[in-house]
Amino acid sequence: MFYFFKNITSFAFWVLVVLIVLSILIRNFWCRYLCPYGALLGVLSFLSVFKIHRNDETCTNCKKCTRTCPVDIRVHKTSGVYSDECHACLKCVAVCPEKDTLYISASKRKAILKPWVYAVVICLLFIGGSLAARITGSWQTSISTHEYLFHVRHLDMPFYQHNRGEVPAYNKEAWLRMMNEIRKAGEKRGPL
Ligand code: SF4
Ligand code: SF4
Repeated sequence: MFYFFKNITSFAFWVLVVLIVLSILIRNFWCRYLCPYGALLGVLSFLSVFKIHRNDETCTNCKKCTRTCPVDIRVHKTSGVYSDECHACLKCVAVCPEKDTLYISASKRKAILKPWVYAVVICLLFIGGSLAARITGSWQTSISTHEYLFHVRHLDMPFYQHNRGEVPAYNKEAWLRMMNEIRKAGEKRGPL
């Protein structure tokens, strides 16, 4: 990343300038219109059985939900959010001052999901998915286990300390040896 910006071409520079200007003019421009990951999330969002619902009887039309929505969905106008742009951040639910007026559920007034349950389910899906991939051998990566553990254990911290000449004496040798191994593994592997 550093070298990308250090040796930036004029084309890349002006693309960034245009993106920055568009992001100032249009809320979350990149995420909503250009990000490929956003497009994938949009498909998942569209297929999800869980949607944001609004109870019209208790809604006071204060519009706080619409104002807080990062993708400008007019939540206060709809009985249910069926937009591929909704990524279920639940900001609208959190900001709504009327109890049980906005909620996420599989169908209106049925199977209401508490926000904390939703968060736990997402975390379990994420951790369970990557664990299942590792156990079944479907996990494909060019990063060695050694290198992976190196980063997971936050051992890259001494990297910055080393650059500032602050690597503690007792682990400097071991750390340099490890960095050397990682560098060799990277050279052998070639560019990612
Ligand atoms: S924040 Fe709640 S009460 Fe206010 S408009 Fe939205 S749904 Fe209605
Ligand atoms: S869950 Fe987030 S993205 Fe979806 S309508 Fe509410 S605030 Fe907007």
